[in-house]
Amino acid sequence: MKTQTHFDVIIIGGSYSGLAAGLALGRALRKVLIIDNGKPCNAQTPHSHNFLTRDGETPAAIAAQGRKQLEQYSSVSFLNGTAIKAVRTDEGFEVEASSGEVFVAVKLLFATGIRDMLLNIDGLADCWGISALHCPFCHGYEVRNQKTGIIGNGNDAYELTSLISNWTSKLTIFTNGPATLSPEQTAKLYAHHIGILEKPLIRLQHHNGYLHHIQFVDGSEVPLSAAYIRSPFRQTCPLPELLGCALNHEGYIQVDSAQATSIPGVFACGDNTTKTRTVANAVSSGTTAGMAISRQLITERF
Ligand SMILES: Cc1cc2nc3c(=O)[nH]c(=O)nc-3n(C[C@H](O)[C@H](O)[C@H](O)COP(=O)(O)OP(=O)(O)OC[C@H]3O[C@@H](n4cnc5c(N)ncnc54)[C@H](O)[C@@H]3O)c2cc1C
Repeated sequence: MKTQTHFDVIIIGGSYSGLAAGLALGRALRKVLIIDNGKPCNAQTPHSHNFLTRDGETPAAIAAQGRKQLEQYSSVSFLNGTAIKAVRTDEGFEVEASSGEVFVAVKLLFATGIRDMLLNIDGLADCWGISALHCPFCHGYEVRNQKTGIIGNGNDAYELTSLISNWTSKLTIFTNGPATLSPEQTAKLYAHHIGILEKPLIRLQHHNGYLHHIQFVDGSEVPLSAAYIRSPFRQTCPLPELLGCALNHEGYIQVDSAQATSIPGVFACGDNTTKTRTVANAVSSGTTAGMAISRQLITERF
């Protein structure tokens, strides 16, 4: 027999954005359940940067302190596990966890993040977040002035290269096949002494995730300390779409300024809603969502 427990709000995802929302809700005396399966996108990064007061700390330490602070609020509960089903009911929503338990809430918040779909290059997954990087604002300072590669092609690679040129001039674009850069882009890159290598890649050679060479299918290699890559992504959790939440054309959950989705009573915050991908932004949108949900519940019950 399945157990049922009633909450004001169920938050699916208990990393930075989910915890920030939980804090705002707990402080508004709301009964909250946070369901999390412990797989934040930045888990492999040794140091998280650019979040005021926690610059350089491990991602896990930042989340652990957040969780510790939330545990002070008796109306906030945690469940370690995966939310596998969410359905609308007359009273709100019913969420089933991987444990088989079923929970009921008036409002639902998805703080479930996104998953990077990394290119199939040997060593890339091992280097991800360590020396294969997604964001210069998070990690560019640590590899400033070092030999750096841009793995990509066409407009995306051109834009990324111009951005990264702020942190280092020792830049090469690795197009992993014939370049699709325009003649104007190619001329500008050469004018900035930025190399373009079109040979197919096979491997990032590294030591414990720290890149030292990029290797090509023909066996040749180039020394490199860091590489930037823009990866496609998918929503980590399929439940928002199954509930009918609209995604925007880039694949993020569509939300308004209160983090409300297109489905009444369902909210979303953090990476799953925006390409501004930072811990600070995840915390900010989580706080906004928590306050907006509280406000809605207060108004509805007054
Ligand atoms: C490699 C890398 C390095 C980064 N470095 C930095 C940095 O230095 N500085 C910075 O500011 N930002 C950095 N970022 C960005 C930052 O990590 C994200 O913006 C932030 O983690 C987003 O927080 P979030 O809560 O939205 O999602 P996440 O942190 O990804 O957390 C989502 C959570 O939801 C859980 N979850 C998902 N689906 C379910 C489900 N169905 N049931 C239960 N739980 C579920 C996951 O397990 C996870 O715990 C980095 C990102 C990457 C990928």
